[in-house]
Amino acid sequence: MRKTLVAGNWKMYKTPTEAKAWFKELLLKIPTSLPAEAALMVPFPFLPAAQEVLLGTAVAYGAQDVSAHVEGAYTGETSVRMLADLTCKYTIVGHSERRSYHKESDALVAEKAKRLLEHGIIPILCVGEPLEVREAGNAVEYTLGQLQGSLEGVPLDDYDRLVVAYEPVWAIGTGKTATPEDAEAMHREIRAWFARRFDLAFANGVRILYGGSVKPDNAAALFAQPNVDGGLVGGASLQLESFLALLEAA
Ligand code: PGA
Repeated sequence: MRKTLVAGNWKMYKTPTEAKAWFKELLLKIPTSLPAEAALMVPFPFLPAAQEVLLGTAVAYGAQDVSAHVEGAYTGETSVRMLADLTCKYTIVGHSERRSYHKESDALVAEKAKRLLEHGIIPILCVGEPLEVREAGNAVEYTLGQLQGSLEGVPLDDYDRLVVAYEPVWAIGTGKTATPEDAEAMHREIRAWFARRFDLAFANGVRILYGGSVKPDNAAALFAQPNVDGGLVGGASLQLESFLALLEAA
């Protein structure tokens, strides 16, 4: 019912030239009948190459952030119209690195998610608790609060597609992964939140990805959980062989 999604989050690595060569090599090596959907979330300057090489193939692509404004005098920002023109299918919003280094609030993340939905791009909305919150036993409350705040005023009833990525901050880039059971428990809570907030049909359609040190050797056990619908993968998505291995694990 929900197709597993393996989305690479390339963060701020590689150059446009390297990316273009990588995309081409991926298309040569990717199995023709993939059980999972593959996507690459890349820096803005890589998007024209992604459009040229990947559009119309089995590999989707998108950006890692978007401006909350449609257009205007916002130096350094990238608009949703630009992303739509480059045929992005997905775009990440609310990644913990943006929340912490750029002080993005839930309200700002909600505006960004709205812009994407209005322009036909599927948000990959990231939520997840820091270590001290988990250790204090408040991970569920914190994560659901972030979800609520990041979807405040977003008319989700008008849209039928949304992806959530549960990324516990303590697991990102640290080599520490949530156990499949802990990930599943949080994903179940997130889905139940959608069922309460909207309805069961909507909740059952939301894909909930796990992110945080997903690697080829732990991916299969995570993706096998009933409410884990794939992964948002940083480090392990940068090497072609390991990205292919993640797709195999799905
Ligand atoms: P990681 O990053 O896989 O390198 O932990 C995940 C993410 O930040 O999306």
